[in-house]
Amino acid sequence: MTTTTQPDLADSPLRRITSWWHAFEEALPGGRGRRTLWLALIALVMGVLITLVWLAGRYEASQLQAELEGDTTEAVSDLRRQLTRQTQSLQGLQSNTPLETFWNTEAQALLREHREWLRIEARDPELNLKNQVDSPLHKPIFKRVSRTDSLNETVQACAKARRINGPSYSSSYFLPQNDGIGFEVMEMCLPATQDGVLVGFTIVTYGLQGLLNELLGDSFGRRNEISFTEPDGTRLAIAGSQSRGLRVFTSQQLVNLPGNTLVLRMDGRRGEASIFPNVLTALVTAMSIALLTVMVLLVKDSRRRLKAERDLAEALAFRKAMEDSLVTGLRARDLEGRITYVNPAFCQMVGFEAEALTGRNAPMPYWPPEMVDEYKQRQAIRLAGNVPPREGFESVFMRQDGTHFPVLIIEAPLISVQGEQTGWMGAVIDISEQRRIEEVSRASQERLQATARLATVGEMASLLSHELNQPLAAIASYANGSLNLLQNPSAVPQTLDDVHMALRRIAEQADRAGRVINSVHDFVRRRDQDREALAPKMLFDAVAPLVQLQARKLRVTVHTHIDPQLPEVMCDRTMVEQVLLNLARNGMQAMDKPDCSDRRLLLKARRAASNAEQAWVEFSVTDVGEGISETVASQLFTPFFTTKAEGMGLGLSLCRTVVEQHGGHLEFEALAPKGTVFRFTLPVKAALLLDKIPA
Ligand code: ADP
Repeated sequence: MTTTTQPDLADSPLRRITSWWHAFEEALPGGRGRRTLWLALIALVMGVLITLVWLAGRYEASQLQAELEGDTTEAVSDLRRQLTRQTQSLQGLQSNTPLETFWNTEAQALLREHREWLRIEARDPELNLKNQVDSPLHKPIFKRVSRTDSLNETVQACAKARRINGPSYSSSYFLPQNDGIGFEVMEMCLPATQDGVLVGFTIVTYGLQGLLNELLGDSFGRRNEISFTEPDGTRLAIAGSQSRGLRVFTSQQLVNLPGNTLVLRMDGRRGEASIFPNVLTALVTAMSIALLTVMVLLVKDSRRRLKAERDLAEALAFRKAMEDSLVTGLRARDLEGRITYVNPAFCQMVGFEAEALTGRNAPMPYWPPEMVDEYKQRQAIRLAGNVPPREGFESVFMRQDGTHFPVLIIEAPLISVQGEQTGWMGAVIDISEQRRIEEVSRASQERLQATARLATVGEMASLLSHELNQPLAAIASYANGSLNLLQNPSAVPQTLDDVHMALRRIAEQADRAGRVINSVHDFVRRRDQDREALAPKMLFDAVAPLVQLQARKLRVTVHTHIDPQLPEVMCDRTMVEQVLLNLARNGMQAMDKPDCSDRRLLLKARRAASNAEQAWVEFSVTDVGEGISETVASQLFTPFFTTKAEGMGLGLSLCRTVVEQHGGHLEFEALAPKGTVFRFTLPVKAALLLDKIPA
């Protein structure tokens, strides 16, 4: 097996920087676009901070430079002032000490007083040496080089002094010494006059080093390096501190002296000891660090926010998916009743776009026009703060195409995060399919009942026809035989007997037929035993669900009114319920016409006129339908008369039979401007006399 070793690049600096950068980018919140923004922001902030620190540094440097310039200016004027003063003391020497001995003493005193003076000479107007004193503080300077060899500069200075009749300085020159080193010196020539006539010169030799040390060293030498330089920068003499520092500030100024111009240079070294050279830079740096810290915190906070945003977006998407998949319509309203939200299922249900619904207030486009008033009232009650029933309530909505459909609405208060109610949230369920199924089952039940009734009637009819057939056939044949006998008058006695016999037989058969009829009557009367005492309200309550079912379908409002303290009635519950149902259904069907908008059905029970023997309760069913025409009225109770395509025409005749079986009577009356009322009476329990019921 062979193994190849890859060069290990993992630790190469480039690789490390790249991976660090990727990690940094990853750490920044947001997607690629947002990261770029963050990077730009960080770069900008860094740029601003660096610029600020740099500017602060520069400001500090300029401050220091200005300070140094000030020092230099001050040093120059100091130097000039002191030189002038020295010139004055030299003038004193000229005037006060004409005698040689005194001159020497005075000159020595002056030399002791001024360390920078190396030698004083007195010369006559032709520059011949009259007198000279070397400084007792220094070795004599003209040893290695004789005074005569270095007189050149002196001659020029004195020539100028003579010209301007005042002190004049020579250019500086290097004076080598015996110990191998030397120093830079400069001479000052002061003319002495008597009564306006030149009598000689006093010449002082200055050591430049001494000038710096004595005149400027104390005041300026502690913090700076002071030097005299040539124009090309060569140092002639240096004094002051030479401590090393990070930053060097330099300032140069000319010292204009009569006859000579010196260049004074000051080098200030600053900032080597402290990282933060001044408060401003320190402040800016501290603020930069604070800013960076805040930025890091911001980045962290932003990441947290982004995460929260993502979570929220996910939760929202989840909620939206849930709402979109719902088949239940959702509708939110604010406290003024304006729609604030509808879900797709609701829009689909009513056939309006969400945009057409949101922001709308009453009347809503899905309210049937005829119900607007009622719904407005309902909404006002809801907005007044009344909580609707938990199980919801039924209502009717209208699609955009105008079709009506029943809905079940379950409403609950909409509570905000702060716990305040901000409106109402309603779940709306389309129950038209449910209603349709109920209707189908009701209709089929009714058909079943009708078929059962028909079957019973048919059965009874065939029974009757069968039972009555024989006696009637016998009666017919006896009658025919009797007729035949009576057509032959010759055989009278015999015939009369036969006719007698035949008539007896006819009577027997008629009796038999009567018994058959009675047996049917008995069969019917057997139901009397089913009668019971019932409160009228119970009868209404029993039919209410079925009536309501059809009422909803035909958009009829049903009102019930029962007089207080009505007595119980004695009746066959099933039969009377059937009567009420029949009358109510006829009434509602009569109102099911397009021109009939206000569809009301009133079921009423009240006391009826009674006599001593019997008290009665009157039931009535009132509609505002098309009414009953005269032609219809004349056949109303005729079995099998109907004006409806699906009608059987047995309803009213059966109703009348049932009511009459209870001893009451059924009647109807036309109402103005339209409508019909059907009334029937039932006997009150206590006085119910079964005997009185007609057979
Ligand atoms: P069906 O309802 O099967 O037609 P009914 O005997 O109950 O049979 O009614 C017979 C006819 O009487 C009906 O077809 C209708 O024309 C008329 N009718 C019954 N009740 C009313 C009513 N309240 N208003 C108008 N017409 C009615």
